[in-house]
Amino acid sequence: MTTLQNGHQKKPLDIIIVGGGLVGSLEALLLAKRGHRVRLYEYREDIRRTPHVRGRSINLALSVRGRKALQSVGLEQHMIREHGIPMVGRYIHKFDGSTYVIPYDARTNQCIYSVGRNYLNSLLLKESEKYGNVEKYFNHKLINADLHKGSLTFLKTQNKETVEVNADLIIGADGAYSAVRKAMMKQPLFDYSQKYIEHGYMELCIPPGEDGEFQMPSKYLHIWPRGNFMLIALPNQDRTWTVTLFMPFAKFNEIDTEEKVLAFFGKYFADAIPLIGKKKLLEDFFAASALPLVSVKCRPYNVIDKTLLIGDAAHAVVPFYGQGMNSGFEDCTILDELFQKHNDDIAKILSEYSDTRWKDVFAISDLAMYNYIEMRDLVTRPSYLFRKSIDDFLFWLLPDLWVPLYNSVSFTNMPYSECVRNRQWQDKIFQLIIIFVGLWTFGSILYLSVR
Ligand SMILES: Cc1cc2nc3c(=O)[nH]c(=O)nc-3n(C[C@H](O)[C@H](O)[C@H](O)COP(=O)(O)OP(=O)(O)OC[C@H]3O[C@@H](n4cnc5c(N)ncnc54)[C@H](O)[C@@H]3O)c2cc1C
Repeated sequence: MTTLQNGHQKKPLDIIIVGGGLVGSLEALLLAKRGHRVRLYEYREDIRRTPHVRGRSINLALSVRGRKALQSVGLEQHMIREHGIPMVGRYIHKFDGSTYVIPYDARTNQCIYSVGRNYLNSLLLKESEKYGNVEKYFNHKLINADLHKGSLTFLKTQNKETVEVNADLIIGADGAYSAVRKAMMKQPLFDYSQKYIEHGYMELCIPPGEDGEFQMPSKYLHIWPRGNFMLIALPNQDRTWTVTLFMPFAKFNEIDTEEKVLAFFGKYFADAIPLIGKKKLLEDFFAASALPLVSVKCRPYNVIDKTLLIGDAAHAVVPFYGQGMNSGFEDCTILDELFQKHNDDIAKILSEYSDTRWKDVFAISDLAMYNYIEMRDLVTRPSYLFRKSIDDFLFWLLPDLWVPLYNSVSFTNMPYSECVRNRQWQDKIFQLIIIFVGLWTFGSILYLSVR
């Protein structure tokens, strides 16, 4: 018997989490804190012992939803103060080499933080060592699942043995290509859709300058918007920048020689070449192929009271709102609140989670698709900058009433679907303002001309 957080004496639940990525390792901590027995199974080797694997973004933007979840396991302040690099706005690099800044929050200077994926994942895993009720099994690949029985078969990747395990509850946190979700797809009434966008991404790097410092102003997310494609850069602790090129695969395929790479960068990102360095640009460009971006929607997230999906396994989104990890962390916060509310009654927790969560993650999935267009194209348009200045002004004037979309998504815990509804009524008011200003201007001109 264990005394749970709510003071009740209860037999702890036996829970298996598949996937020791960011979301799985955070969920393990939250369940361990509640006194349950947690077994975390991870396909890869312990990330604390492996160097960064190319193909997974090196750094991520952490915002309020992710921070709230980290706060509940006591790691938020460490991440913000010791590790994260604040980014207070977008730093736009125009075609002609000139630059300008679009602050995220001109009113209260809120910011997002650039954090290292491996660092954060390692920190979460390390933290779990404080809990005797967490067991971690690395190099274990889920190969089969009977979700009704709560039984899983793992392949030990080092010696190719298989092992079968059972639990009261299985949580699939095994990412966008989830094996748990694959098993759930055999269930009747399980809806699933996935979309690969026609754009892929490739990571490059800007090294520190000769003085060992950042080569660009560090407190920003840098963007080179070029209409149908873009380059972005996020700062790292070691004074490097992780630079990501998002572009249609067709265009990546066209650029197949060193000359073409240099000509392409020379034409579209000329100011980035001296920062990256020609040699390094060519090395990194040809070191690996561009990677795909997939968006996954599915529901329900549970199979009766035995299995649940969270994080990318439940809702992989394209990365343009910087909310994939943040929404996955928010899943953990919401689950924790439901464990509290329903006193660890799995059936009630899973059913409420599944019935309510989908609206918000579907909303952020759609917003993320939209934000790609905003980042790669709209940010350069006068109409966008005009709307942003009106939003900023009204936010300054009416901070509780007029919260702009980006701010509500990144700096509040407002449900994502509500952020969208918020934006919809703001759009209507904005249109009325434009009509009013238009009529007023027209009326004034008419009045002056007949006077
Ligand atoms: C280019 C890019 C940039 C991004 N930038 C941001 C950002 O700025 N901010 C943000 O919030 N999000 C960002 N994201 C999204 C973010 O990376 C994901 O949302 C987040 O990593 C999801 O975490 P997860 O734990 O659910 O899944 P994952 O990180 O994919 O972890 C899943 C884990 O499950 C393991 N696994 C898989 N299959 C099995 C199996 N069969 N058996 C056992 N284990 C298995 C995997 O090895 C992995 O460790 C970005 C994504 C990309 C691609």
